[in-house]
Amino acid sequence: MADPDTSQLATRRGVEDAIASALHITRRAAWGARPSTGPLEPDWNYDSIVVHYTGHDTYESPLAIQNFDVGHQHWQDIAYHYAISPAGRIYEGREIVFKGSHVKLQNTRKIGIVCMGDFDSSIFNLMSGKGYSGDEVRGSMLDALRRLSQELMRRFPITTFGGHKEYGVSESCPGSNLLPRVQALRTELHLAAPVFQKL
Ligand SMILES: [Zn+2]
Repeated sequence: MADPDTSQLATRRGVEDAIASALHITRRAAWGARPSTGPLEPDWNYDSIVVHYTGHDTYESPLAIQNFDVGHQHWQDIAYHYAISPAGRIYEGREIVFKGSHVKLQNTRKIGIVCMGDFDSSIFNLMSGKGYSGDEVRGSMLDALRRLSQELMRRFPITTFGGHKEYGVSESCPGSNLLPRVQALRTELHLAAPVFQKL
């Protein structure tokens, strides 16, 4: 008889593959992801989507995000389940069969999506020559976020959608330019706003 945990993981990986192929997601192997540095906790039956930005540590590749999350944050792998480039390319992050590391002490059943850019007014943007108000949110990125969210809603019992700072403590994520767009998308998708929890 097959080990039930192994067969359950295989079933979940089948869903992971179906999501990736439906949206032409760039898989971990394709962007050269390093293996996780330790065991990851399983998670499933996601009910929430949390949108993030890379912020003033603006990383231009999923590998750079993974290097930061593992090297500086000391997590076992990239924090987020998916990453979206300004041009709307979707990358696989941490495998969706595993719990993310993107909302402090409340990651269970939350899918983390990071939009690559600094969508906030900050001195860091001024210093890097972008202008104080940071990156514009491009339509191509928003379209990809919408398509990914709709696909995830078909696969999981998603009820809740919002930006990181709406869920828990974060000074700025996902940035002042992106948060209103996330809130508008939430209305469009008929999903509920998160309940803020300071853990
Ligand atoms: Zn965040």
